[in-house]
Amino acid sequence: MYPNTQLFIDGQWCPAASGRTMPVVNPADHSQIGTLAYAENADLDRALEAAEKGYKVWRKVSAYDRSKILRKAADLFRERADTVATYMTYEQGKPLAEARMETLAGADIIDWFAEEGRRAYGRVIPARAEGVYQLVLREPVGPVAAFTPWNFPINQAVRKLSAALATGCSVILKAPEETPASPAELVRAFADAGVPAGAINLVYGNPGDISSYLIPHPVIRKITFTGSTPVGKQLAALAGLHMKRVTMELGGHAPVVVFDDADIDIAAKAMASAKYRNAGQVCVSPTRFLVQEGVYQQFVAKFVEYTKGIKVGSGFDKDTRMATLANPRRQSAMIEHVDDARHHGATVQTGGSPIGEHGNFFQPTVLTEVDTDAMSMNTEPFGPLAIINPFKNFDDAVKEANRLPYGLAAYAWTRSAKTANAIASQIETGMLTINNLGLALPEVPFGGVKDSGYGSEGGSEAIEPYLISKFVSQAGL
Ligand code: NAD
Repeated sequence: MYPNTQLFIDGQWCPAASGRTMPVVNPADHSQIGTLAYAENADLDRALEAAEKGYKVWRKVSAYDRSKILRKAADLFRERADTVATYMTYEQGKPLAEARMETLAGADIIDWFAEEGRRAYGRVIPARAEGVYQLVLREPVGPVAAFTPWNFPINQAVRKLSAALATGCSVILKAPEETPASPAELVRAFADAGVPAGAINLVYGNPGDISSYLIPHPVIRKITFTGSTPVGKQLAALAGLHMKRVTMELGGHAPVVVFDDADIDIAAKAMASAKYRNAGQVCVSPTRFLVQEGVYQQFVAKFVEYTKGIKVGSGFDKDTRMATLANPRRQSAMIEHVDDARHHGATVQTGGSPIGEHGNFFQPTVLTEVDTDAMSMNTEPFGPLAIINPFKNFDDAVKEANRLPYGLAAYAWTRSAKTANAIASQIETGMLTINNLGLALPEVPFGGVKDSGYGSEGGSEAIEPYLISKFVSQAGL
């Protein structure tokens, strides 16, 4: 049911040159379910050579034909959604329905970029002299090194692969070692659809060793990373040293501002369902709930009631709404967050403990009246933890929302257009959704500000980082 995952280099699935492998573990029971091929420098050298060669071929394929190949990849991936989702639930733990949704959304993202790549228009600038054409050509930046994490094994990879391939770049993807099989299926769909050998390559291994080898390498022209802020800063610094272009999609600590005039029923239900999706291991997960005093008790009661109703269990059980955390690090982090919050005087309204002896399960947890100094108020919990605190007025809410160095996603609930406009203008965030859950569609920008990173991975903005502008001034003689 679950495959061993190989490297994909120069159009071939292959073991590591050394034959080295690494175990893949089911987070729901800690059993070994498979292995992955573990790349070292000899494999990376082959991948670099392939990416250089693949780039020369792929960039010459017309945008029209690249688009056709990408659309075929989307169709293949959609057809294979059940298999891909099954692999993902085995390796990552999330409920099968969520894994399936992520896979199908991945196919939609490929389709979007397939179209957008055809519209990577340059421009013509009016010249000062007759007979001169001033052209701005858009060209692919070159071979890309992409690093993606385990929380959304498809979603994080597909945005990078699709944008790179749609614009004519080649890619070396270092996908997550903890969840390798589902992103390998994504690469397989592109290869089966006709992306030529070398234009897409897949490696696994030691993340630090691979990034410190690939980023400075002269073949690589662009770096894209999704993961934690501390690692992102290290990689951005290394990329800066070697003058490489960078896109960074890093951590967040999303504030949710609920005003007195909001529809509390809808807000509590929508936010609780968003909070526990993927067991809270989501960079845009709603985390710091700031609720205006007049509706505070009512909101807490509804949110806690919804949270208590969440069925936690195996990702393969149809009734499961939240499954295991993806690795033991997350379970330990949840225990630490809850202990620390208790020491800071917080009330645990529900949850707060691991579940069972096996796997990385943790209860959906709601903390209230959490001190600003508590760890969870400052460090991204990246787990099923909601923190709800009251606020008095608009300025207090904005001050708290903007207090942290992060600025990825934010949420607001109000019936007042004036309040909605004011929050949209004053909150420091890359993405804000008001009275709905409107983030992360292929056609809308996706990215952060401040320590949450830079660059966008959605919408028409997302292909920009994969293109360079070449200016040509041409006179007819
Ligand atoms: P981590 O910071 O070590 O790893 C995060 C991801 O970065 C992993 O996929 C890992 O393989 C990769 N990584 C780590 N060091 C790397 C390096 N030197 N070069 C290239 N890639 C590297 O820790 P973790 O325990 O996996 O996650 C911890 C925190 O990371 C989470 O609490 C969360 O804040 C953040 N995170 C964010 C996202 C996101 O979607 N933005 C995804 C995963 C993790």
